[in-house]
Amino acid sequence: MIDGIITIDSRGIIETFNRAAETIFGYGAEEVLGRSINTLMPEPHRSRHIQYLTRYLSSGQSSVIGQGREVEAMRKDGSIFPCDLAVSEMRLGERVLFIGVVRDITTHKQNEQRLRFLASRDPLTGLANRTLFRERLEQAILSHESENRSIALLFIDLDRFKNINDTLGYQAGDQVLWEAARRLERCVREGNTVARLSGDEFTILIDDVNSTETVESVARDVRHQLSQPYDVDGREVYVSACIGYALYPDHADSVSNLLKRADTALNEAKRKGSGNFEFYTSELSARIERHLQIENSLRRALEREELSLVYQPKVDLSSQKINGCEALMRWNSAELGFVSPAEFIPIAEESGMIIPIGEWVLKMACLQVTAWHAAGLPLIRMAVNLSARQFHDTGLTSRILAIVAETGIDATLLELELTESTLVENANEAIQVLRALKRLGITLSIDDFGTGYSSLSYLKKFPIDALKIDQSFVREIPINQDDIAIVRAIVSLAKSLNLKIVAEGLETIEQVHFLRDLDCEQGQGYYFSRPIPAPEFMTVFHRFNDQPLFPHTPPHNALVRT
Ligand code: C2E
Ligand code: MG
Ligand code: MG
Repeated sequence: MIDGIITIDSRGIIETFNRAAETIFGYGAEEVLGRSINTLMPEPHRSRHIQYLTRYLSSGQSSVIGQGREVEAMRKDGSIFPCDLAVSEMRLGERVLFIGVVRDITTHKQNEQRLRFLASRDPLTGLANRTLFRERLEQAILSHESENRSIALLFIDLDRFKNINDTLGYQAGDQVLWEAARRLERCVREGNTVARLSGDEFTILIDDVNSTETVESVARDVRHQLSQPYDVDGREVYVSACIGYALYPDHADSVSNLLKRADTALNEAKRKGSGNFEFYTSELSARIERHLQIENSLRRALEREELSLVYQPKVDLSSQKINGCEALMRWNSAELGFVSPAEFIPIAEESGMIIPIGEWVLKMACLQVTAWHAAGLPLIRMAVNLSARQFHDTGLTSRILAIVAETGIDATLLELELTESTLVENANEAIQVLRALKRLGITLSIDDFGTGYSSLSYLKKFPIDALKIDQSFVREIPINQDDIAIVRAIVSLAKSLNLKIVAEGLETIEQVHFLRDLDCEQGQGYYFSRPIPAPEFMTVFHRFNDQPLFPHTPPHNALVRT
């Protein structure tokens, strides 16, 4: 029998004490028989049980009788332990006796505590898990009183952690996570919560922040600590992290808002790239809100026919005649009004929508060449911008081939403008794609040249036809000496690589003359014409190309506004 059974009389004097009770309490029966039940009770509860019994005897009411309850008891050696106690009454003639059934629940308690601990911990790192973190956060906000102090919530996400699992195996991944957890613990004072929410997502809760600098310095420390090399079975592994953080009550008025804000900041940090950290600000939330609006509206832009193309003439600088054009996208959204391509194209890229949209642009631009031709214009080369995502899409060449076939355009009239960063991203693959496009007869040029990460060795290997000098270098010509030097350098580089040069953003006659004198072949800019809709393009084309050539009097009134 594991239950101790103790009988006492109405004064609390012990009358029986079984074997199990001896084991539980460490007394031999002879030591306690005839003594008060108080012997088995720790100090604060002494005599309370007797009071209960007395009250029961006089009034017939008590909560002790018939019910099991958890109480504290004391062993012979003075140690206190939790036990379950159930008391029942027994009448022997006139005498009233009470029988207590006692069960030691120490191990049970320990298990319970252990379970509670396990339920609140991340088994891999031993950090608080999501449940405990949530609890602590709620507690911190509930007990937040001082306006001078804030609660900071940091979200931390390891960059490209999946790569470690994929290349070194899960065990290596686990080692890194365990070590990262230890480093995070070192970044905060005791009492602050460090938790692992899932996979490679950690969070830190600091509940006594008195200035934003404190949080920023913790964030910096976290970034620094995490970026130190990890020793995985003798091998050095590097991991960086992105951090986003928000403050209560500064940025949020509730638990859920605070979580959202920190998450927003984390996403922004991730968007900016590895190793960043970002504070939540209302400006940030406005930007993200706008981002979402654009993304949502853009999804329906094609079907609602909100997208259109405008065309900017490309002019031969020596003859001052139009010999090509660039198609540029315009979006007039029902909800947002006019949105600049500089704003929506990166979002279309990120969400993948650039694939169907870009295909539409290519098709419309090709159709335009044939439509102009049918309306009496000579065949001119049409340049279309291709984004990185489109370029790296595996179906690109076959899709272009299909568009060429479908629209009946001569592929040699099509030019694709790519940026340097698109090409160097995966240069060897890029060379293959460029070669395939060249085989179709397509002209290839590098847009915004000079602003990306050019690699001269690759430039030599890329089968491209032209460089477009970025407008930022043209803007201050002929005043800014540095820009002049840069433009000269780009032109001579292009010449030595046998590439044609196109100057973007020509706005003044000085710029036009300067670039023409450098032997730059083609120019494009407001000086000649803004990007304009197709019908206007015809008019402008005739104005330029039907005139006899006056070398030093370019067509001044060509400035057409969209
Ligand atoms: P980009 O390809 O470098 O196009 C040149 C940008 O400079 C155009 O801006 C054009 O309107 C502007 N521009 C032309 N001449 C001048 C000038 O003299 N002065 C000034 N200040 N600006 C001039 P836009 O149309 O806003 O397009 C911005 C960028 O968006 C483009 O830069 C291109 O990267 C991208 N984009 C536009 N349409 C498309 C498209 O259909 N597909 C893709 N993937 N990207 C596009
Ligand atoms: Mg372009
Ligand atoms: Mg450009």
